[in-house]
Amino acid sequence: MNTQPVSDQLQRPIRDLRISVTDRCNFRCTYCMPKEIFGDDYAFLPREELLSNDEITRVARMFASLGVKKLRITGGEPLLRRDLAPLIRELIRIEGIEDIGMTTNGLLLKQYADRLYEAGLRRLNISLDALNPDLFAKMNGRGVSPEIILSNIDLAKNMGFKIRVNTVIQKGVNEQEILPLAAYFKERGITLCFIEFMDVGNDNGWSYKKVVSRREMFDILNSQYELEPVDPLYFGEVAKRYRYKDNSSEVGFITSVSESFCSSCTRARISSDGSIYTCLFATTGHNLRDMLRGDYQDEEIIAFIRSVWEGRTDRYSDQRAQIAASNRKKINMSFIGG
Ligand code: SAM
Ligand code: SF4
Ligand code: SF4
Repeated sequence: MNTQPVSDQLQRPIRDLRISVTDRCNFRCTYCMPKEIFGDDYAFLPREELLSNDEITRVARMFASLGVKKLRITGGEPLLRRDLAPLIRELIRIEGIEDIGMTTNGLLLKQYADRLYEAGLRRLNISLDALNPDLFAKMNGRGVSPEIILSNIDLAKNMGFKIRVNTVIQKGVNEQEILPLAAYFKERGITLCFIEFMDVGNDNGWSYKKVVSRREMFDILNSQYELEPVDPLYFGEVAKRYRYKDNSSEVGFITSVSESFCSSCTRARISSDGSIYTCLFATTGHNLRDMLRGDYQDEEIIAFIRSVWEGRTDRYSDQRAQIAASNRKKINMSFIGG
């Protein structure tokens, strides 16, 4: 498969593909899948509606032919998918793919980290929102202790994984965790990335008042540590990175709300039911699964993906102030893939 790279209406190429391998999760983070909404009777996708490993691999190969170089496995909680290691093994072989990472809450890493490593996965983003046990238990909605995640982070690190820890900070909820988390991961040489609370989906009670901006988080860190900026590694790198001057650990920020980065957004997403989304805040996707399961050749599906990307005009974060007020219905992050 050898096709020409593609650009959207704002001249952005397609470089990254985020694949949601399941819409289910073993956590109920208050800002993502609040348990009041994602309760016992919530209708998750039946198994047959999820893309199979073969379908995901085929899709990834087609995206690679259009210029995708990086894949990220996400969800929902990707470790709930049993056949993940064989999937990684296939994805790594795709021509043109230079990097594969996975984002996980880390709860099941003890069971699966060795298989994933053996399959070739080397990079993990592990989410952890607090070191305080009561607060973390409340935030993950399932009473899980941070100790379990911390010990799984150590285990994965010792196995050889490159790890970044992601923390979503919400005003009035966990900003007091910024310094303890920074101290803990700095000492271990693990990169920590603070994410501004975003208005993904429609169910997390987001408002501007609950956002702690990069500037505020930076000031808190800067009151204790001397930091210097680190140059981006590549066009479109999402995290703004800093280095502690007294050791080489890094801290990053994802500033989707306070400093949008749509102009360099090269990310496409495949939802757990096999639709393409061209923005995290999209209202609709483009159904690929029916094409994959229908009588279509790869060339026809590639032409469809190309036309979707060529028509892309998304820049939600640039326009948040205008659009957010209109209460438009967005897709949940656990479904579209964070
Ligand atoms: N379950 C996995 C996890 O939590 O790492 C992967 C999926 S999760 C949707 C991916 C990332 O999105 C996590 O780091 C999570 O903290 C982040 N996230 C979810 N909802 C968010 C929100 N409203 N604002 C900012 N980040 C959010
Ligand atoms: Fe699950 Fe991740 Fe969403 Fe938390 S952020 S509910 S762990 S998908
Ligand atoms: Fe990309 Fe949409 Fe986020 Fe802008 S708002 S950076 S277009 S995903």
